[in-house]
Amino acid sequence: MQIFPCPFCGSRDETEFTFGGEAGKVRPAPADAVSPEDWSRFLHLHPNPRGAVREIWRHDTCGEFFLMERDTLTHRVSATHSLREEGAQASSASVPHQGESFGTLTPGVETGTSEAGL
Ligand SMILES: [Zn+2]
Repeated sequence: MQIFPCPFCGSRDETEFTFGGEAGKVRPAPADAVSPEDWSRFLHLHPNPRGAVREIWRHDTCGEFFLMERDTLTHRVSATHSLREEGAQASSASVPHQGESFGTLTPGVETGTSEAGL
């Protein structure tokens, strides 16, 4: 079990969350000019990187979508942000994960040192 920090509700069990996709992925447009190949690429090809990623998640309990920054190797969540924040770049209510404290997020800077349990 993993605990995810919802920026609105606090720490909750991972089963309350749904993955929404990679952050920053741009839908091809205009729709009537998108080729089938480009549409298929948008729908089915995902980079699946190792390490730090920025993803959109939904907390099913409160219904809010938010940005989660996590590491795909360690499963450590470094921060979560409301999508209401301008550019989702500012610090938000980061919630400690398994005893660690999250500092104020600075883009590109790690804010913690411990790894999350799996
Ligand atoms: Zn929530």
